[in-house]
Amino acid sequence: MAYAYDDQNIFACILRKEIPNKTVLETPHSLAFEDIRPQAPNHVLVIPKGRYVCYDHFALEATEVEIVDFTRTIGAVCKMLGLQPGHDGQGYRLISNAGTHGVQEVPHLHVHILAGRSLGRMLQPAG
Ligand code: AMP
Repeated sequence: MAYAYDDQNIFACILRKEIPNKTVLETPHSLAFEDIRPQAPNHVLVIPKGRYVCYDHFALEATEVEIVDFTRTIGAVCKMLGLQPGHDGQGYRLISNAGTHGVQEVPHLHVHILAGRSLGRMLQPAG
């Protein structure tokens, strides 16, 4: 089944500049901005400008130009913030929640870049 994109989601509003954001980096096909409720000293969201609901939607249907732009934007933000572990940064974690089990709040693809402290183990034990 094809994905249905909700044009009223909050990130669509940000892309239309109907609500403000703290932009970290903007490219022709992507936008990186600070998360409004940061869960780490560095918490940036990277979104494509296209109408993609989640990662698999984007990975399967976006153009190669969009995919390269999005991937490079994530890399550029990591570099800008000094997070690259190979360059004396302390590293980071990328998260992209999708759907109900992924507990996705906003139905527009976003990758969280989290950094600035030790982030602990990836998942809490089930229980
Ligand atoms: P997720 O659970 O992966 O869908 O995460 C959605 C993220 O969007 C959360 O971390 C929110 O804090 C963040 N968020 C929601 N509204 C805004 C906003 N207006 N500006 C920046 N971040 C937001």
